[in-house]
Amino acid sequence: TAALELDGIERIYNRGLPSEVAVLRGVTMSLAPGEVAALVAPSGAGKSTLLHIAGLLDTADTGAVRLSGRDMTRLSDRQRTRARRDEIGFIYQFHHLLPEFSAAENVILPQLAAGVSRQDADARAQSLLDAVGVAPRAGHRPSALSGGEQQRVAFCRALANRPSLLLADEPTGNLDPETSDVVFGALMALVRDTGLSALIATHNLDLAKRMDRVLTLDSGRISG
Ligand code: ADP
Ligand code: ADP
Repeated sequence: TAALELDGIERIYNRGLPSEVAVLRGVTMSLAPGEVAALVAPSGAGKSTLLHIAGLLDTADTGAVRLSGRDMTRLSDRQRTRARRDEIGFIYQFHHLLPEFSAAENVILPQLAAGVSRQDADARAQSLLDAVGVAPRAGHRPSALSGGEQQRVAFCRALANRPSLLLADEPTGNLDPETSDVVFGALMALVRDTGLSALIATHNLDLAKRMDRVLTLDSGRISG
């Protein structure tokens, strides 16, 4: 079974208004277990909309979303929130870490919220932070970390609850090219290590080429 399937997804904003815009016009794609695909799109093409629908943060007007074969289209809000929490890791261009908490706590808190014991959450945070090379900075608040370190902590937080699918929107987009390269390498190692399936939006074609497959979103449809 595919980790993620999008089947005929359509999304129109401002329907019926002069500002109506059909952003997605029948997006169909699937991601195999363990597969890492790049999503490349010109700005405004609808990549954030697509990631939000795949991540159950937004709903399509038409079409189906399936995670590991399970149809997510008709879930209640509660089931949707739960599926999002249990199955999906999200990474944004900006880290959105909690400023009052240390790097480690930022990785521990979502686990506690999901019912993991403090001891197990600590151990998991430690091993994730270690894997991306920020363990020595675990006790610092985000503001004391470099941009690259902050993003690496955000990766750990996204993976803390062992999602089956990772969705990332320009995960290194706010970093300088050199840092971006290193931080992206850390992300790929983490993803490969955990066998995650991932859909990673990027403008950076060099990064896109390091993934298994490149999907292009243009004129509301996917090719590749
Ligand atoms: P991308 O992430 O590729 O830049 P988005 O998915 O953010 O694209 O947006 C695609 C298009 O839809 C853009 O033209 C954007 O202005 C428009 N759009 C996005 N969200 C909304 C919204 N909530 N209401 C109206 N238009 C929107
Ligand atoms: P990014 O490209 O970094 O994802 P965007 O500017 O495309 O950022 O979108 C940021 C947020 O604003 C998204 O949640 C999107 O849905 C919303 N948005 C984007 N364009 C519009 C718009 N024209 N009208 C209303 N909301 C929009």
